Amino acid sequence: MRAGKIASLALVPVMAGIASAVYLASEGIAGQGSTTPFWNLAITAGLAAVAFLVVLVPVGIQHDRSLAALKSFIESASADESVAPYVGPRWMHPITAAFTGEVDKFRQREQSLQNQLRDLEIRHRVSEAERRQVESVLNVLRDAVLVTDAFNEVSMGNQRAADVLGFDLSEAIHQPIDRLLSEERFSQMIKDVRESGNINDCRHVEYELPARVGEADGTTVFEVAMSCVENHKNEVAGVVTVLHDLTRERELAQMKTDFVSKASHELRTPLSSIRAYVEMLVDGEAADEKARDEFYQIIYDETDRLGRLIDNMLNISRIEAGIVQIEREEVDVKALIDRAVSTIEPQATDKGIAVNTRVADVDLRVEGDADMLFQVVLNLMSNSVKYTPEGGRLTVSADSDNLTRSTVVSVSDTGLGIPPDALPRLFEKFFRVENYKRVAKGTGLGLSLCKHIVETVHRGQIGVESKLGMGSKFWFTIPMRYEGSRAAA
Ligand code: ADP
Repeated sequence: MRAGKIASLALVPVMAGIASAVYLASEGIAGQGSTTPFWNLAITAGLAAVAFLVVLVPVGIQHDRSLAALKSFIESASADESVAPYVGPRWMHPITAAFTGEVDKFRQREQSLQNQLRDLEIRHRVSEAERRQVESVLNVLRDAVLVTDAFNEVSMGNQRAADVLGFDLSEAIHQPIDRLLSEERFSQMIKDVRESGNINDCRHVEYELPARVGEADGTTVFEVAMSCVENHKNEVAGVVTVLHDLTRERELAQMKTDFVSKASHELRTPLSSIRAYVEMLVDGEAADEKARDEFYQIIYDETDRLGRLIDNMLNISRIEAGIVQIEREEVDVKALIDRAVSTIEPQATDKGIAVNTRVADVDLRVEGDADMLFQVVLNLMSNSVKYTPEGGRLTVSADSDNLTRSTVVSVSDTGLGIPPDALPRLFEKFFRVENYKRVAKGTGLGLSLCKHIVETVHRGQIGVESKLGMGSKFWFTIPMRYEGSRAAA
């Protein structure tokens, strides 16, 4: 309340006192002609009003000022950095000093809370960034990874884990595992590892899970590794579970076993033959010079076959292992075909097989390894001669395919053709059509090597079309990358 307002309020009883005194006095004069009782009363009222004016109004004004000073002091305390000194009456000083002290303490506390808040914000951002980094690492892994906390709730995982275990990753965080995973035994395993509390122990088990959408039917076998994780107090804070798909490894192991057994079988056949003929020669079982020459020839052919087998096996495994030496250069397919035709012609002529070439008059240069590509053409032509009866025909063609920007080479014959059930397996290692084993000697590795040279080394394609009894057409394509790579350079 302002001083003016107090003064004007105080004026009301004063004016009332004066007015009542004047009224009473005039009443006394008019009524009785005597002054004593009325004047006394009027004077008393007047004095009371004056006393009120003199004493109470200044006190009110002073009080009003003190309150205004206190108000502005409190306002400055709540708004400013530093509290303005209090300029009110002295008796208020202990109160304002205590207030200032409390405000200072409050400010210090506020400052420390703000510092803590900033620290927490920084830590939160750092841990959020770390979490995102860990998540990105987890998501590039092929293995499924699931991290659970001390309450058996999911704290982290990757998409592979969601796919393999069949849950929605976006809703998995903080979900209890037994609610999330349909495999009860699997969640129990995680709980057991957590309860064991053994931080140094990593449990490895094989676990079969049903194949999920997009995968093969049936089940998939995983190698599951489970390990406890500890917090800064060395207490068990959760479990990390890693699932490693063993399907591919088992397939590879099976392939290796098959290869070793097939290779040893194929190697044993010529070796046993060589051994038998050598024994016969040593035992003097060759009756005459002619028989001995025949034995020597067989031994020579078998060692030759053995050599080819070993060479082919080595070449295939070198290409598969990616350690083959490739001499990339500009290869003129026309020249390469001419060379192969002149190499095969004596063999073909012996069998009365006509060799034709149909090479398009276009640029047929490719970028590749000339020796390897020569081996492919020669292999296909040699097979045609082997599996075409006398008097047949063999045609080598080459043209460019502008659509795929590649050179297409094909070798067709009028030979035995290939049974339909053998077609899908023709390029497998050691595969030979059972009925043709007597027709010609072979290793069953030639076409597999051709496929590796064309597809793995030159990024081309190889295929076959055939009708039983009507002949076969083997073809392959090599990208014309020589020009392309020049243009790109
Ligand atoms: P091989 O050394 O036995 O010829 P390949 O890998 O070159 O081995 O061929 C695999 C099998 O494919 C052969 O054993 C043969 O049964 C069949 N084959 C290949 N080329 C022809 C062809 N032109 N006509 C008929 N059968 C063929």
